[in-house]
Amino acid sequence: MVMKMKSVQVPAQKSIALIAHDNYKQALCDWVIKHKDKLSAHRLCATGTTGYKIVQSSGLEVQKYVSGPLGGDQQIGAKIAEGEVDILIFFWDPFEPMPHDPDVKALLRIAAAWNIPVACTPASADFMVNSSLLAVAFDRNIPDYEGYLADRI
Ligand code: PGA
Repeated sequence: MVMKMKSVQVPAQKSIALIAHDNYKQALCDWVIKHKDKLSAHRLCATGTTGYKIVQSSGLEVQKYVSGPLGGDQQIGAKIAEGEVDILIFFWDPFEPMPHDPDVKALLRIAAAWNIPVACTPASADFMVNSSLLAVAFDRNIPDYEGYLADRI
């Protein structure tokens, strides 16, 4: 189906969600430290263990949700649907199955549904953090819920 979309403005200060599976937590912590200056201008949130490790290694402030396998991915998905997360950095593990694979898929789906920028590798996250759009307000299309409803009621 083709979803009706409408434009909203994403503010200059972004809300960035950070998640890494266990084998990629070090890579995410290294990435955060590498880009600490840029990231410190934005609001950061993360699943529980990822958040703990980022705070410990970088000293940045991070709002922590519960651990991914306990529902943290779903909490972040809900924040995306509420318009409270603007960017997702998610280093998921392509080499190991997870007990919460359905949640991982759901999170990536909801991020696509709401058209937020998603980076799943350090290389794509480098591109994202070096985008000129990171530090300024920009327009993003999101599902037009009123239009969607009007077609169904
Ligand atoms: P964690 O969760 O940060 O609590 O390890 C991440 C995940 O596995 O999705």
